[in-house]
Amino acid sequence: MKFALSVTIKGSREWTGISKCEIDEVLSKAENLKKGIDGEFKINVDVDKDIKLEILSDYRAHSLFARIKKILVEHTGKKYHIGIKEIFVDKYEILFKTDKPPLKPVSVPFADVRFEGNLCNVSVKNQDEKFLTNNYADRIINLIREKISKQYYEGKKEYWNLLWSSERKEMKFDKDPSEEMRKRGWIFQISKGKWFYFPQAALMLNVMKTIAVEDFVKFAGFREVIESNIKPLEIWLKTGHIYGMPNEIYYVANPKTRDESAWEHFKDVVKITKNIPKEELKDLVDINYGITYAQCPMIYHALNNKTIAEDNLPLKIFEKTVNSARYESGGTHGIERVDEFHRIECVFIGTPETLLELKENIIERYKFIFNEILDLEWRMADVVPFYMQHAGEAGDAKRDIAVAKLWKGTVDFEAYLPYRGSREENQWLEFQNLSIVGDKYTSAFNIKTQRGELWSGCTGIGLERWLVAFLAQHGFNYDDWPEKFKKYIKKEETEKGIKFL
Ligand code: ATP
Ligand code: ZN
Ligand code: MG
Repeated sequence: MKFALSVTIKGSREWTGISKCEIDEVLSKAENLKKGIDGEFKINVDVDKDIKLEILSDYRAHSLFARIKKILVEHTGKKYHIGIKEIFVDKYEILFKTDKPPLKPVSVPFADVRFEGNLCNVSVKNQDEKFLTNNYADRIINLIREKISKQYYEGKKEYWNLLWSSERKEMKFDKDPSEEMRKRGWIFQISKGKWFYFPQAALMLNVMKTIAVEDFVKFAGFREVIESNIKPLEIWLKTGHIYGMPNEIYYVANPKTRDESAWEHFKDVVKITKNIPKEELKDLVDINYGITYAQCPMIYHALNNKTIAEDNLPLKIFEKTVNSARYESGGTHGIERVDEFHRIECVFIGTPETLLELKENIIERYKFIFNEILDLEWRMADVVPFYMQHAGEAGDAKRDIAVAKLWKGTVDFEAYLPYRGSREENQWLEFQNLSIVGDKYTSAFNIKTQRGELWSGCTGIGLERWLVAFLAQHGFNYDDWPEKFKKYIKKEETEKGIKFL
């Protein structure tokens, strides 16, 4: 790699009295400038009102600059009582090679990017000191590499590997269950991807919840926590959601002030026009939060910097109170792909070995529920881990799985939906998943125990999806439903709706 960095250093007063030779000498004598650096570098100095530096090197010039700055501050502070007031990056050029040439142009913020084959030239102009001290250059290089690997990954079939499937079962229904529920007055559409559940549908969703909570979650020893539904955006900076899927998040804005007078004009306009002046509203609020995307990020946040006692491991907790919201855009369908859904999420934290054992037990228990209680035709597949999708890293999934010492990844649970057509040609419905994410979140949130490494994992149960899978295969005729399922609900209850005249 080659780096060429030009900076201007403004002093607390003009640098008169200091000569170029003096700075050259100070820098050439400074031991801690070269320490640990394998590579050549050259520093050109020029002094008039300001100090101008040009660093040409094989090594990260922004790191060299940090050292130079320290040496200069020490020297000029002691001898001339001048401090540094401001630093400008006039120009920063970086040359490096990528594994493969890009397939189409690559662009990144703050820089111009040009390619000749796989030789990349990054050119940055007119930035402030933050660009150097906050490592923007390294991140820009990583981002360019990531964008290229994504270009190669795009268009390839998603990684999907069948692990297990139930026996083929007789289907008792072939219609779209959401459409059928709508016709029967069980559900009412509020707006795109958002639904109101009338008593029969609410009851059915609650039966799914009861089965999930009593027969799986509590049975497997998970303990309930209750989280906040309005997430500070910073949590997603740590998990990667905010750059992985900012286009799926529902953002929450809070008023900039509660002061009545600040809102008076807005209120008056609404009263007069009977419309909501959206632009004016935007000026009155700040976006600091988002609604739950999944429950696990806040669980990790609550455990941030904590040391979990060994006798609490594996830690098993679950959350069932908050709704998840995702902007699915044109993809919404019935209640199976919605913008607001009900999910139970279980998080487990422990040593890698105990988590693997737990994963097997969890799968066994799920098998019991889907085979015996819900009596579904379903299957499990190994897929691109959600934590990589959520952080926009899908391109490296296979490599990451391959280098893991123990199993890491995501298992999707999918149900056959007869209304979509044949089993072979149509996509099945992912109704839940199970992941072991390795140390990704335990290290991001610094979660520790007394001895040894901690891994974590989670399993998210989508209640709308359980219900769709069940109704799509068993239909709406109570007498056709599996015997074990009928224990959770009486026939009359499924028939009792609200009578509208
Ligand atoms: P999909 O690939 O179907 O979009 P996902 O991979 O985005 O799902 P996860 O982020 O892994 O889903 O969330 C876990 C569970 O949440 C899913 O298995 C599913 O049960 C549920 N879920 C996710 N998105 C939706 C949605 N839009 N509507 C209803 N349930 C959903
Ligand atoms: Zn999760
Ligand atoms: Mg999704």
